[in-house]
Amino acid sequence: MKIEKITVTPIAIQDPPLLNVLGIHQPYALRSIIEVTADNGLVGLAETYGDSNTLNGLNRVSELLAGLDPFCLNDLEARVERGLAGMKVKDGSILAPGTIPERAKAIAFAAYETACLDLQGKLLGLPVAEVLGGRVRDAVPFSAYLFYKKARHIGAAHDDPYGAAETPEAVVRQAKAFVAEYGFKSLKLKGGVYEPAVEIETMRQLKKAFPDHPLRLDPNGGWTVKTAIAAAHELEGVLEYLEDPVLGFAESADVAHSISMPIATNMVVVSFQDLAESVRHGSVQVILSDHHYWGGMRATQALAKICSIWKLGLSMHSNSHLGISLVAMAHVAAACTNLTYACDTHYPWQQDEVIAGGKLKFIDGALPVPTKPGLGVDLDRDALTRLHRQYLACEDLDRDDVKEMRKYDPNWKGALPRF
Ligand SMILES: [Mg+2]
Repeated sequence: MKIEKITVTPIAIQDPPLLNVLGIHQPYALRSIIEVTADNGLVGLAETYGDSNTLNGLNRVSELLAGLDPFCLNDLEARVERGLAGMKVKDGSILAPGTIPERAKAIAFAAYETACLDLQGKLLGLPVAEVLGGRVRDAVPFSAYLFYKKARHIGAAHDDPYGAAETPEAVVRQAKAFVAEYGFKSLKLKGGVYEPAVEIETMRQLKKAFPDHPLRLDPNGGWTVKTAIAAAHELEGVLEYLEDPVLGFAESADVAHSISMPIATNMVVVSFQDLAESVRHGSVQVILSDHHYWGGMRATQALAKICSIWKLGLSMHSNSHLGISLVAMAHVAAACTNLTYACDTHYPWQQDEVIAGGKLKFIDGALPVPTKPGLGVDLDRDALTRLHRQYLACEDLDRDDVKEMRKYDPNWKGALPRF
């Protein structure tokens, strides 16, 4: 089997006005859909970020992939290196993917590796989880990803289906709706939005409403060390972990050494290069893996192994995404023996879908790992065309939550730490 043709299609998907430490989500989130066609007619799929750095990287590499055997992933890595050598990346915010050259490589490799694994599975008649060594679980638990949010985007004619959530009570209502619809057994709140006292109160009300659900809070590095330690003491017995209360190896370690709950991260430790320094400092206790930017699914399995060696917990990070990403996350999570926490997903916030058959279904808060060959999903071509048109009509081709927030508050800075 040899690769014949690559198609990278940028798409824009509707995204609700979700609040975070930097500002607010824009009306559309950007993704790319990758199709890798082999000479036997099989097509491998992948989904990744759709920002301009990622697209630039994917397109540079695509020119070098003709003739590659999808089983030769070391050769793929060499071609990605070659394709991205000397590529300039645009600066982005701390929440933007692909803004560091090393990360751009990890992202491009991960996307094409996913499509190659889909092709391998299709050729062998095996699901990707089996190609990765075999599933150790048939369904992957996900956490409800709760957000403070506005009722509608600026300029929208009506409220979105989720409504406003700008108080602790509204977040509890949101949690009840998510748990009723999806059966989630863990709850995560995106924090760093309001004064810590408000967010602590929100977590306490969630604990009262869901005494048996493990809870997490993620201020996205928006707190000072002092604020983080004080908040963690108040949330003793309420949270299973606190995610990225502060930025920096030393700062995170200062917090970690003063509190009893674990610190999880997708901001302090974001690559293999970060692991040694984090372990040396004792900065974090749980790593949020993400095959999209950690260099793919096999790299995620390597990360899982490192976590088990250093007795670090393992969970999974998410950005706004569709079903191809979700099944890829499920396959790799199913093939990691030491997944110690439910994974994050934005999926319930997305109305659009690009896979045939529509939105995937969670059962009791978990996604059944597909049993069909490859990733186990097919493209809905009409949806892809529609979502690509949506992309072509987009004003902003890079995510900018700070800029969006200035539409609500012209003096908004989006600077960290906030509290
Ligand atoms: Mg996070």
